[in-house]
Amino acid sequence: MSIRFYCPACQKELFRYEYRMRKYGSILRKCRKCGADYIDPRYRELAFDGMPKDEFNIIPYTVGLVIGGLIAWRGWALFGKRQLGVPDAMQWLMPSTLLLIGAFLAIGMLYEIITIKTGLKMKKFEKLMAESRSRVSDIRYIHKLEQLGCEVPEMYRNP
Ligand SMILES: [Zn+2]
Repeated sequence: MSIRFYCPACQKELFRYEYRMRKYGSILRKCRKCGADYIDPRYRELAFDGMPKDEFNIIPYTVGLVIGGLIAWRGWALFGKRQLGVPDAMQWLMPSTLLLIGAFLAIGMLYEIITIKTGLKMKKFEKLMAESRSRVSDIRYIHKLEQLGCEVPEMYRNP
């Protein structure tokens, strides 16, 4: 289910997003229609929230890898078999689709697992964290967030 996001100043629809969507970066954005500042609900300010531990948990990625592998394997196994009620010319469609979707999913999950295991993902997040810390050390940035109603953690608030 996607949520529509409207600019709080000009009320124009700026984007749609999934509630579980997580991006890491500046939460302060400028409306491309009217130029007003707004807080982007898709983004997380790492200095406020801390390192997201679930990003480094390989269990969900391993589950995804297995599911992707099973889907691909199912597609592969269907190649030699005739599917009832499917025209001859379309027999290839289902196995190919399953094989492709499964393989893409498995490769994506494997990539995540490798970047976690090798520490590449942590490196990337440490860089994001450093950028976030530098953003929140700017009092003007904090002030803007507060003006927009963002809950700024105590330690970063204006003295
Ligand atoms: Zn606007």
